[in-house]
Amino acid sequence: MIAVVGAGLGGLLAANLLAKEGYKVEVYERLPFPGGRFTSLNYKGFEISTGALHMIPHGSRGPLAKLLKKIGVRVEIIDSKPEGEFLWNGERIEVRRRVFPLKAILKFYKELAISKFKDRTLDIFANSLDDFTKAFLNSFLGWSLSIYSEDITFRKFYEIFKQTVKYRGPGIPIGGCKAVIDELVENLESMGGKIYLRKEVRGIKKSNEEVKLLIEEWKCFDGVISNIGHKLTAELMGEKVNLPEESRGIKYTLKLEEPFLEHTGVLFIANKNIAGMNEVTNADPNLGKGVMLQVHQPFKGDARRAIEDGLREIREVVGKNFELLAVQSFSRDWPVNRIKAGSDLGVVFKERIVVVGDGAKGGDIEVEGIALGVEKALEELRRWI
Ligand code: AMP
Repeated sequence: MIAVVGAGLGGLLAANLLAKEGYKVEVYERLPFPGGRFTSLNYKGFEISTGALHMIPHGSRGPLAKLLKKIGVRVEIIDSKPEGEFLWNGERIEVRRRVFPLKAILKFYKELAISKFKDRTLDIFANSLDDFTKAFLNSFLGWSLSIYSEDITFRKFYEIFKQTVKYRGPGIPIGGCKAVIDELVENLESMGGKIYLRKEVRGIKKSNEEVKLLIEEWKCFDGVISNIGHKLTAELMGEKVNLPEESRGIKYTLKLEEPFLEHTGVLFIANKNIAGMNEVTNADPNLGKGVMLQVHQPFKGDARRAIEDGLREIREVVGKNFELLAVQSFSRDWPVNRIKAGSDLGVVFKERIVVVGDGAKGGDIEVEGIALGVEKALEELRRWI
Protein backbone atom coordinates (compact mmCIF):
# COMPACT_ATOMS: atom_id res chain seq x y z
CA MET A 1 0.00 0.00 0.00
CA ILE A 2 1.28 3.44 -0.98
CA ALA A 3 0.29 6.71 0.69
CA VAL A 4 0.22 10.12 -0.95
CA VAL A 5 0.44 13.13 1.34
CA GLY A 6 -1.48 16.00 -0.26
CA ALA A 7 -3.97 15.92 -3.12
CA GLY A 8 -2.32 18.57 -5.29
CA LEU A 9 -1.71 17.99 -8.99
CA GLY A 10 1.56 16.10 -8.42
CA GLY A 11 0.04 13.87 -5.75
CA LEU A 12 -3.00 13.00 -7.86
CA LEU A 13 -0.94 12.32 -10.99
CA ALA A 14 1.34 9.98 -9.02
CA ALA A 15 -1.61 8.24 -7.34
CA ASN A 16 -3.29 7.64 -10.71
CA LEU A 17 -0.15 6.24 -12.30
CA LEU A 18 0.44 3.83 -9.43
CA ALA A 19 -3.21 2.75 -9.29
CA LYS A 20 -3.07 2.09 -13.03
CA GLU A 21 -0.09 -0.21 -12.41
CA GLY A 22 -2.16 -2.13 -9.87
CA TYR A 23 -0.84 -0.66 -6.62
CA LYS A 24 -3.18 0.12 -3.75
CA VAL A 25 -3.08 3.87 -3.14
CA GLU A 26 -4.47 6.15 -0.44
CA VAL A 27 -4.33 9.94 -0.73
CA TYR A 28 -4.57 12.11 2.39
CA GLU A 29 -5.56 15.77 2.04
CA ARG A 30 -6.01 18.16 4.94
CA LEU A 31 -8.36 20.57 3.09
CA PRO A 32 -12.02 19.85 2.34
CA PHE A 33 -11.30 19.85 -1.42
CA PRO A 34 -8.68 18.20 -3.64
CA GLY A 35 -6.38 20.05 -6.07
CA GLY A 36 -4.19 22.23 -3.83
CA ARG A 37 -2.95 25.14 -5.91
CA PHE A 38 -4.31 23.65 -9.14
CA THR A 39 -8.05 23.98 -8.79
CA SER A 40 -10.56 26.81 -8.50
CA LEU A 41 -13.27 28.16 -6.24
CA ASN A 42 -16.32 29.86 -7.68
CA TYR A 43 -16.76 33.49 -6.69
CA LYS A 44 -19.45 35.71 -8.25
CA GLY A 45 -19.74 33.25 -11.13
CA PHE A 46 -15.98 33.22 -11.85
CA GLU A 47 -13.64 30.24 -11.40
CA ILE A 48 -10.91 31.84 -9.30
CA SER A 49 -7.91 29.52 -9.36
CA THR A 50 -6.37 28.61 -6.04
CA GLY A 51 -2.85 29.09 -7.38
CA ALA A 52 -1.85 28.32 -10.94
CA LEU A 53 -3.28 30.27 -13.83
CA HIS A 54 -5.86 28.38 -15.90
CA MET A 55 -3.14 27.61 -18.38
CA ILE A 56 -0.90 24.66 -19.28
CA PRO A 57 2.51 25.93 -20.44
CA HIS A 58 2.92 23.63 -23.47
CA GLY A 59 -0.78 23.08 -24.17
CA SER A 60 -2.02 19.86 -25.74
CA ARG A 61 1.50 18.77 -26.80
CA GLY A 62 3.47 18.97 -23.55
CA PRO A 63 4.50 16.54 -20.79
CA LEU A 64 1.37 17.13 -18.68
CA ALA A 65 -1.01 16.51 -21.60
CA LYS A 66 0.95 13.35 -22.46
CA LEU A 67 0.87 12.09 -18.89
CA LEU A 68 -2.88 12.71 -18.61
CA LYS A 69 -3.38 10.71 -21.79
CA LYS A 70 -1.18 7.89 -20.47
CA ILE A 71 -3.24 7.75 -17.27
CA GLY A 72 -6.44 7.68 -19.32
CA VAL A 73 -7.73 11.08 -18.25
CA ARG A 74 -9.55 13.06 -20.90
CA VAL A 75 -9.19 16.82 -20.76
CA GLU A 76 -9.72 19.12 -23.70
CA ILE A 77 -6.92 21.66 -24.02
CA ILE A 78 -7.34 24.63 -26.37
CA ASP A 79 -3.92 25.61 -27.70
CA SER A 80 -3.36 29.35 -27.50
CA LYS A 81 -3.39 31.47 -30.62
CA PRO A 82 -1.27 33.52 -30.81
CA GLU A 83 0.98 31.83 -28.25
CA GLY A 84 2.15 35.18 -27.01
CA GLU A 85 2.33 38.90 -27.66
CA PHE A 86 4.75 41.38 -26.13
CA LEU A 87 3.59 44.81 -25.01
CA TRP A 88 6.49 47.06 -25.92
CA ASN A 89 6.19 50.88 -25.93
CA GLY A 90 2.41 50.68 -26.22
CA GLU A 91 2.53 48.29 -29.18
CA ARG A 92 1.57 44.60 -29.15
CA ILE A 93 4.08 42.50 -31.03
CA GLU A 94 3.47 38.83 -31.71
CA VAL A 95 6.31 36.80 -30.20
CA ARG A 96 8.21 35.03 -32.97
CA ARG A 97 11.87 34.33 -33.41
CA ARG A 98 12.21 36.94 -36.15
CA VAL A 99 11.25 39.87 -33.90
CA PHE A 100 14.51 39.44 -31.97
CA PRO A 101 17.68 41.00 -33.40
CA LEU A 102 20.18 38.59 -34.96
CA LYS A 103 22.78 39.94 -32.52
CA ALA A 104 20.72 38.65 -29.57
CA ILE A 105 20.47 35.19 -31.11
CA LEU A 106 24.23 35.10 -31.71
CA LYS A 107 24.82 36.15 -28.09
CA PHE A 108 22.55 33.30 -26.99
CA TYR A 109 24.68 30.74 -28.86
CA LYS A 110 27.85 32.31 -27.47
CA GLU A 111 26.54 32.00 -23.89
CA LEU A 112 25.47 28.44 -24.64
CA ALA A 113 29.04 27.61 -25.68
CA ILE A 114 30.43 29.26 -22.51
CA SER A 115 27.91 27.36 -20.36
CA LYS A 116 29.47 24.05 -21.41
CA PHE A 117 32.37 24.76 -19.06
CA LYS A 118 31.22 27.70 -16.89
CA ASP A 119 27.75 27.79 -15.28
CA ARG A 120 27.04 31.52 -14.96
CA THR A 121 23.81 33.09 -13.76
CA LEU A 122 21.41 34.20 -16.47
CA ASP A 123 21.67 37.93 -15.61
CA ILE A 124 25.14 38.07 -17.22
CA PHE A 125 23.56 37.06 -20.52
CA ALA A 126 20.45 39.24 -19.93
CA ASN A 127 22.52 42.36 -19.26
CA SER A 128 24.48 41.89 -22.48
CA LEU A 129 21.29 42.06 -24.58
CA ASP A 130 19.51 44.92 -26.36
CA ASP A 131 16.67 46.56 -24.40
CA PHE A 132 13.88 44.79 -26.30
CA THR A 133 15.21 41.24 -25.91
CA LYS A 134 16.25 41.83 -22.31
CA ALA A 135 12.79 43.13 -21.39
CA PHE A 136 11.14 40.14 -23.06
CA LEU A 137 13.42 37.67 -21.31
CA ASN A 138 12.60 39.29 -17.97
CA SER A 139 8.84 39.17 -18.50
CA PHE A 140 9.05 35.57 -19.74
CA LEU A 141 10.97 34.61 -16.57
CA GLY A 142 8.45 36.49 -14.40
CA TRP A 143 5.37 35.03 -16.07
CA SER A 144 6.52 31.45 -16.59
CA LEU A 145 8.83 30.83 -13.65
CA SER A 146 8.26 33.69 -11.16
CA ILE A 147 11.97 34.37 -10.96
CA TYR A 148 14.46 37.05 -11.95
CA SER A 149 17.48 36.49 -14.18
CA GLU A 150 19.90 36.41 -11.23
CA ASP A 151 17.93 33.50 -9.70
CA ILE A 152 18.81 30.88 -12.30
CA THR A 153 21.89 29.71 -14.15
CA PHE A 154 22.09 29.81 -17.92
CA ARG A 155 22.39 25.99 -18.02
CA LYS A 156 19.17 25.46 -16.06
CA PHE A 157 17.38 28.11 -18.07
CA TYR A 158 18.52 26.45 -21.31
CA GLU A 159 17.10 23.11 -20.14
CA ILE A 160 13.69 24.77 -19.70
CA PHE A 161 13.98 26.88 -22.85
CA LYS A 162 14.65 23.74 -24.92
CA GLN A 163 11.30 22.34 -23.76
CA THR A 164 9.56 25.50 -25.00
CA VAL A 165 11.22 25.15 -28.39
CA LYS A 166 10.24 21.46 -28.50
CA TYR A 167 6.63 21.67 -27.28
CA ARG A 168 5.87 25.35 -27.97
CA GLY A 169 3.40 27.60 -26.21
CA PRO A 170 0.48 27.32 -23.87
CA GLY A 171 -3.07 26.05 -23.90
CA ILE A 172 -6.15 26.44 -21.73
CA PRO A 173 -7.92 23.38 -20.31
CA ILE A 174 -11.67 23.50 -20.81
CA GLY A 175 -13.12 23.80 -17.31
CA GLY A 176 -9.81 25.26 -16.07
CA CYS A 177 -7.52 23.65 -13.49
CA LYS A 178 -10.48 22.18 -11.61
CA ALA A 179 -11.62 20.11 -14.58
CA VAL A 180 -8.21 18.41 -14.66
CA ILE A 181 -8.39 17.67 -10.93
CA ASP A 182 -12.01 16.41 -11.09
CA GLU A 183 -11.06 13.99 -13.87
CA LEU A 184 -8.00 12.77 -11.94
CA VAL A 185 -10.10 12.16 -8.82
CA GLU A 186 -12.81 10.31 -10.73
CA ASN A 187 -10.25 8.22 -12.60
CA LEU A 188 -8.37 7.31 -9.41
CA GLU A 189 -11.55 6.28 -7.62
CA SER A 190 -12.65 4.20 -10.62
CA MET A 191 -9.39 2.22 -10.24
CA GLY A 192 -10.00 1.60 -6.53
CA GLY A 193 -7.74 4.38 -5.23
CA LYS A 194 -8.97 6.24 -2.16
CA ILE A 195 -8.91 9.96 -1.40
CA TYR A 196 -9.49 11.09 2.16
CA LEU A 197 -10.30 14.79 2.56
CA ARG A 198 -9.94 16.73 5.84
CA LYS A 199 -7.29 14.22 6.89
CA GLU A 200 -4.03 15.87 7.81
CA VAL A 201 -0.84 13.85 8.08
CA ARG A 202 0.85 14.97 11.30
CA GLY A 203 3.96 12.82 11.44
CA ILE A 204 6.18 10.47 9.44
CA LYS A 205 8.41 7.67 10.82
CA LYS A 206 10.54 5.40 8.71
CA SER A 207 12.19 2.03 9.16
CA ASN A 208 13.98 -0.12 6.56
CA GLU A 209 10.85 -2.08 5.72
CA GLU A 210 8.05 0.50 5.88
CA VAL A 211 6.96 4.08 6.46
CA LYS A 212 4.43 5.03 9.14
CA LEU A 213 2.15 8.05 8.86
CA LEU A 214 0.36 9.68 11.76
CA ILE A 215 -3.12 10.34 10.43
CA GLU A 216 -5.56 9.74 13.26
CA GLU A 217 -3.29 7.00 14.47
CA TRP A 218 -0.07 5.57 13.06
CA LYS A 219 -0.58 3.61 9.85
CA CYS A 220 2.00 1.54 7.88
CA PHE A 221 2.77 1.88 4.16
CA ASP A 222 5.32 0.35 1.79
CA GLY A 223 6.13 3.76 0.38
CA VAL A 224 5.12 7.41 0.61
CA ILE A 225 4.75 10.09 -2.03
CA SER A 226 4.92 13.52 -0.52
CA ASN A 227 3.19 16.32 -2.37
CA ILE A 228 4.04 18.92 0.27
CA GLY A 229 7.66 19.68 -0.59
CA HIS A 230 10.94 18.90 1.13
CA LYS A 231 10.58 21.39 3.99
CA LEU A 232 7.18 20.27 5.27
CA THR A 233 8.08 16.61 4.75
CA ALA A 234 11.22 17.08 6.87
CA GLU A 235 9.19 18.86 9.56
CA LEU A 236 6.79 15.89 9.74
CA MET A 237 9.83 13.68 10.38
CA GLY A 238 11.02 16.02 13.14
CA GLU A 239 13.96 17.17 11.00
CA LYS A 240 15.03 20.52 9.59
CA VAL A 241 16.37 21.19 6.12
CA ASN A 242 17.98 24.31 4.78
CA LEU A 243 16.39 25.13 1.50
CA PRO A 244 16.69 27.78 -1.16
CA GLU A 245 13.90 30.38 -0.96
CA GLU A 246 10.49 29.72 -2.44
CA SER A 247 9.33 31.83 -5.38
CA ARG A 248 6.60 34.35 -4.66
CA GLY A 249 3.92 35.90 -6.78
CA ILE A 250 0.70 37.86 -6.87
CA LYS A 251 -2.24 37.01 -9.04
CA TYR A 252 -5.01 39.50 -9.87
CA THR A 253 -8.30 38.27 -11.29
CA LEU A 254 -10.27 40.96 -13.09
CA LYS A 255 -13.74 41.06 -14.55
CA LEU A 256 -13.83 43.22 -17.68
CA GLU A 257 -16.79 44.71 -19.52
CA GLU A 258 -15.29 43.75 -22.87
CA PRO A 259 -12.38 41.55 -23.96
CA PHE A 260 -9.05 43.34 -23.70
CA LEU A 261 -6.67 40.78 -25.18
CA GLU A 262 -9.26 39.24 -27.52
CA HIS A 263 -7.24 36.03 -27.87
CA THR A 264 -6.27 32.90 -25.95
CA GLY A 265 -2.53 33.57 -25.60
CA VAL A 266 -0.37 35.51 -23.15
CA LEU A 267 0.36 39.23 -23.26
CA PHE A 268 3.88 39.64 -21.85
CA ILE A 269 4.47 43.12 -20.41
CA ALA A 270 7.77 44.98 -20.85
CA ASN A 271 9.58 46.70 -18.01
CA LYS A 272 6.91 46.48 -15.33
CA ASN A 273 6.44 44.51 -12.13
CA ILE A 274 3.44 42.73 -13.66
CA ALA A 275 4.92 40.18 -16.06
CA GLY A 276 1.94 39.16 -18.15
CA MET A 277 -1.77 38.45 -18.46
CA ASN A 278 -4.20 36.07 -20.12
CA GLU A 279 -7.92 36.12 -20.87
CA VAL A 280 -9.02 32.55 -20.41
CA THR A 281 -12.73 33.12 -21.01
CA ASN A 282 -11.84 33.52 -24.72
CA ALA A 283 -11.08 29.77 -24.74
CA ASP A 284 -13.77 28.68 -22.28
CA PRO A 285 -16.60 31.17 -21.65
CA ASN A 286 -17.83 28.95 -18.80
CA LEU A 287 -14.86 29.98 -16.65
CA GLY A 288 -16.64 33.23 -15.83
CA LYS A 289 -19.87 35.14 -16.17
CA GLY A 290 -18.14 37.78 -18.24
CA VAL A 291 -14.57 38.39 -19.37
CA MET A 292 -11.94 37.12 -16.93
CA LEU A 293 -8.41 38.50 -17.09
CA GLN A 294 -5.67 36.97 -14.94
CA VAL A 295 -2.54 39.04 -14.29
CA HIS A 296 0.62 37.59 -12.76
CA GLN A 297 3.36 39.45 -10.92
CA PRO A 298 6.42 37.86 -9.33
CA PHE A 299 7.71 39.60 -6.22
CA LYS A 300 10.34 39.47 -3.52
CA GLY A 301 9.92 40.96 -0.06
CA ASP A 302 6.80 42.90 0.95
CA ALA A 303 3.50 41.81 -0.65
CA ARG A 304 1.57 45.01 0.18
CA ARG A 305 3.92 47.33 -1.68
CA ALA A 306 4.08 44.90 -4.58
CA ILE A 307 0.26 44.93 -4.81
CA GLU A 308 0.16 48.77 -4.84
CA ASP A 309 2.65 48.77 -7.74
CA GLY A 310 0.82 46.00 -9.54
CA LEU A 311 -2.60 47.67 -9.36
CA ARG A 312 -1.20 50.98 -10.62
CA GLU A 313 0.42 49.17 -13.55
CA ILE A 314 -2.76 47.23 -14.35
CA ARG A 315 -4.64 50.56 -14.62
CA GLU A 316 -1.90 51.89 -16.93
CA VAL A 317 -2.15 48.87 -19.23
CA VAL A 318 -5.80 47.82 -19.07
CA GLY A 319 -7.51 51.12 -18.14
CA LYS A 320 -9.86 51.71 -15.22
CA ASN A 321 -12.92 49.90 -16.43
CA PHE A 322 -12.70 46.64 -14.50
CA GLU A 323 -13.93 44.95 -11.36
CA LEU A 324 -11.19 43.47 -9.20
CA LEU A 325 -12.50 40.02 -8.25
CA ALA A 326 -9.45 38.77 -6.34
CA VAL A 327 -5.90 39.61 -5.37
CA GLN A 328 -4.01 36.53 -4.15
CA SER A 329 -0.46 36.56 -2.86
CA PHE A 330 1.55 33.36 -2.87
CA SER A 331 4.44 32.89 -0.47
CA ARG A 332 5.80 30.66 2.33
CA ASP A 333 3.83 27.39 2.51
CA TRP A 334 1.37 28.43 -0.26
CA PRO A 335 3.94 29.85 -2.68
CA VAL A 336 4.25 29.94 -6.45
CA ASN A 337 6.99 27.32 -6.18
CA ARG A 338 8.18 25.68 -2.98
CA ILE A 339 11.65 25.73 -4.49
CA LYS A 340 12.63 28.18 -7.21
CA ALA A 341 12.77 26.89 -10.77
CA GLY A 342 16.29 25.70 -11.49
CA SER A 343 17.15 25.04 -7.82
CA ASP A 344 15.24 21.76 -7.45
CA LEU A 345 16.52 19.27 -4.90
CA GLY A 346 15.45 16.11 -6.69
CA VAL A 347 12.69 13.61 -6.10
CA VAL A 348 14.21 11.21 -3.57
CA PHE A 349 13.71 12.36 -0.01
CA LYS A 350 14.75 9.16 1.74
CA GLU A 351 14.47 5.47 0.98
CA ARG A 352 10.76 4.71 0.34
CA ILE A 353 9.85 8.42 0.43
CA VAL A 354 9.75 10.55 -2.73
CA VAL A 355 8.65 14.12 -3.32
CA VAL A 356 6.42 15.29 -6.18
CA GLY A 357 4.90 18.68 -6.97
CA ASP A 358 6.43 22.06 -7.56
CA GLY A 359 9.19 21.48 -5.02
CA ALA A 360 10.57 18.60 -7.11
CA LYS A 361 10.10 19.47 -10.72
CA GLY A 362 11.80 18.12 -13.79
CA GLY A 363 13.42 20.75 -16.00
CA ASP A 364 10.33 22.41 -17.36
CA ILE A 365 7.82 25.18 -16.61
CA GLU A 366 5.41 24.78 -13.67
CA VAL A 367 2.88 21.94 -14.16
CA GLU A 368 4.90 20.55 -17.07
CA GLY A 369 7.86 20.22 -14.69
CA ILE A 370 5.53 18.60 -12.13
CA ALA A 371 4.48 15.98 -14.70
CA LEU A 372 8.12 15.18 -15.51
CA GLY A 373 8.98 15.06 -11.79
CA VAL A 374 6.16 12.59 -11.07
CA GLU A 375 7.49 10.11 -13.61
CA LYS A 376 11.02 10.42 -12.19
CA ALA A 377 9.76 10.04 -8.61
CA LEU A 378 7.85 6.85 -9.40
CA GLU A 379 10.87 5.34 -11.16
CA GLU A 380 12.77 5.81 -7.90
CA LEU A 381 9.96 4.62 -5.64
CA ARG A 382 9.53 1.38 -7.62
CA ARG A 383 12.99 0.32 -6.39
CA TRP A 384 11.57 -0.06 -2.87
CA ILE A 385 7.95 -1.13 -3.25
P1 AMP B 1 -0.07 21.82 -3.82
O1 AMP B 1 0.05 22.93 -2.83
O2 AMP B 1 -0.94 22.18 -4.98
O3 AMP B 1 1.25 21.31 -4.23
O4 AMP B 1 -0.81 20.65 -3.08
C1 AMP B 1 -0.39 20.21 -1.84
C2 AMP B 1 -1.59 19.76 -1.06
O5 AMP B 1 -1.15 19.16 0.15
C3 AMP B 1 -2.54 20.87 -0.68
O6 AMP B 1 -3.84 20.54 -1.11
C4 AMP B 1 -2.44 20.92 0.84
O7 AMP B 1 -3.66 21.28 1.46
C5 AMP B 1 -2.05 19.52 1.20
N1 AMP B 1 -1.32 19.33 2.46
C6 AMP B 1 -0.36 20.11 2.99
N2 AMP B 1 0.09 19.60 4.16
C7 AMP B 1 -0.61 18.46 4.37
C8 AMP B 1 -0.60 17.47 5.41
N3 AMP B 1 0.25 17.55 6.43
N4 AMP B 1 -1.47 16.43 5.29
C9 AMP B 1 -2.32 16.33 4.25
N5 AMP B 1 -2.37 17.23 3.26
C10 AMP B 1 -1.53 18.29 3.30
